[in-house]
Amino acid sequence: MFHIDVMDGHFVPNITVGPLIVTTMRRCTKLPLDVHLMIQHPDKMVKAFSDAGADDLTVHIESSHDVSKTIRMIRDLGKDPGVVVNPPTPVEKAFRFLDKVDILLVMTVNPGFPGQKFMPEVLPKIRAARDYIDREGLRVELEVDGGVNVDTAPKVAAAGADILVAGSAIFSGRIVRRIKDIRQRAESQGI
Ligand code: ZN
Repeated sequence: MFHIDVMDGHFVPNITVGPLIVTTMRRCTKLPLDVHLMIQHPDKMVKAFSDAGADDLTVHIESSHDVSKTIRMIRDLGKDPGVVVNPPTPVEKAFRFLDKVDILLVMTVNPGFPGQKFMPEVLPKIRAARDYIDREGLRVELEVDGGVNVDTAPKVAAAGADILVAGSAIFSGRIVRRIKDIRQRAESQGI
């Protein structure tokens, strides 16, 4: 899938892409578009990104919105909702939403800029989320985003992640080769 980082200059101190770019990407690929909304008021934008062709829409529980209501809006639009937690946020705060979503995204950097270093102190949160999802028998995919590369991918996979997001580690070299390497390292840990 393509993971698209949307930043609004408020929730994070950087600005990236809007719905128009997602519309253009939708024309270029049949792969799922996984849209990560790092924005202050995601409830105001989910329809625009849904209309643009997003398949999954993930929203931060730290943003200014009624999280349950936004999840419902995404579901009503016929898209897969997900919730996201930043590194300082206890992952347990997201647990009460997990019976309503398809994705739990755990950030392993503080979002805002590409090329940041993976925060190993977040690994216990990934393990705690894995345990909770399995214990409760939930159908939630555990996604990890931030600083994933050939060295950190096996650690994230061993902690129980299902989906690994990689940006800088892929685009700084031969893209297909880099994806293959990261996938191989992650799969060696049973992802
Ligand atoms: Zn992201």
